[in-house]
Amino acid sequence: MSKDNITDIAVIGGGASGLAAAVEAKTALPQAKVVILEKLDRVGKKILATGNGRCNLSNINLTSDHYHGSVKNVMRIIGSTPSAKEFFGGLGLLCIADSKGRIYPRSNSAATVLNALRLKAQQLGVIERCGFEANFIESTPNCFKISTVSGEKFPCKRIIVAAGGYAAPQFGTDGSVIRLMRSKGCHTTKICPAVAPLRVRPELLKGLKGVRVKGRVTAYSGGRFLKEEVGEIQFTENALSGICVFNMAHLFSHYEGKLTLRLDLAEDMVMDQLLGYLRVIQYQRGKQTLEELLTGMFPRNLATYLTKRALGKPLNEPISSIRENELRQLAQLVKNLEFDVTGSSSWKDAQVTSGGISGDCIDERLQLRSEKGIFLCGEILDVDGDCGGYNLQWAWSSGIQAGRSCADSLRGGLT
Ligand SMILES: Cc1cc2nc3c(=O)[nH]c(=O)nc-3n(C[C@H](O)[C@H](O)[C@H](O)COP(=O)(O)OP(=O)(O)OC[C@H]3O[C@@H](n4cnc5c(N)ncnc54)[C@H](O)[C@@H]3O)c2cc1C
Repeated sequence: MSKDNITDIAVIGGGASGLAAAVEAKTALPQAKVVILEKLDRVGKKILATGNGRCNLSNINLTSDHYHGSVKNVMRIIGSTPSAKEFFGGLGLLCIADSKGRIYPRSNSAATVLNALRLKAQQLGVIERCGFEANFIESTPNCFKISTVSGEKFPCKRIIVAAGGYAAPQFGTDGSVIRLMRSKGCHTTKICPAVAPLRVRPELLKGLKGVRVKGRVTAYSGGRFLKEEVGEIQFTENALSGICVFNMAHLFSHYEGKLTLRLDLAEDMVMDQLLGYLRVIQYQRGKQTLEELLTGMFPRNLATYLTKRALGKPLNEPISSIRENELRQLAQLVKNLEFDVTGSSSWKDAQVTSGGISGDCIDERLQLRSEKGIFLCGEILDVDGDCGGYNLQWAWSSGIQAGRSCADSLRGGLT
């Protein structure tokens, strides 16, 4: 094979991190031939779906407590690469932060984020090769060969693996490249859906499907406090959902079978205030049936659910018939509604992968320890962030770092 037929840098996966890596590598080493190998018919399909089509691409508050996993230097990599505002500013895309610190494109359109990345890649001369599903990486003395199932072989000097994890397989990510990387000496940590709903016993959710309510969610394991967050809680047929539940999903892999979520549905009131309110309602609505006891506070489905679950009696009795201890029971439940988590969601309903290729497998430049010349970035690594722009920030920063390191290694040789 002539040297000219060997591509300098092949990027496996044209998602968020792969596009950032390709742009950075080609910027750092303009003479290098950089090719993105993407399995789907076009690059960046997942980016279009992010942030409900608005793309929450980063967050002002980038601190380590928003990241989980075994890769140790996440914050160092984020700190040593341009901020999302700088990176996208350099691509001509304006970004703004909302009142919670979440950064979006000023256009409010994810399509403009993908467009900015593709325009830059095109301008630099990065080549997109779609419909190429990497299935195996062979190492030969003078190059790597990436092959497809049909036997096509793509020779290259360096590889950036940016093929994502298992979450949202409808956007091309089914974990197959994680499995492929095991043949290159990689090992993985425990893998499970993150930024995802959490399943609970469906019989405990009867009547609640579709209800949305603001509250505090606290995660416990065997009585030990793990994490809490305030926000909108959503109930589905068999799961709890909403951003604050999404942010607990990564705990499932560590505490499987021992994870409990406690909902405080009156986090804006202390217990005495809630009891005071219930006593007033008992006075005001004494002649109404128990069905109306909580309808001044919650949507009807949730109001009747809570009253039934707390009092365990027919709701056709008058409100005046209940006793002080029953009011207390009800207030207790409103502030401590518990659900044992029975499972995580399907990969289709998850936004992110918790777990992945272990941090031990890569060096600080994101190069594989077991095989020099292969760099990894994005969700394929064991890093998952909270909801709020943290995952895309990791994709951009790790992509830029991998692109940079890869270009350096071509310039200076493998070390
Ligand atoms: C619905 C949804 C909404 C989200 N919203 C947000 C948000 O608003 N903010 C945020 O921070 N995060 C969000 N995320 C998470 C974020 O999108 C991901 O963490 C991020 O895209 C990961 O980037 P990546 O480059 O590692 O992988 P991906 O973006 O998943 O890209 C991987 C690419 O590799 C390709 N590929 C896979 N296997 C192969 C193969 N064998 N050969 C060639 N190509 C392959 C895939 O087709 C894909 O294009 C969301 C995720 C989803 C699913």
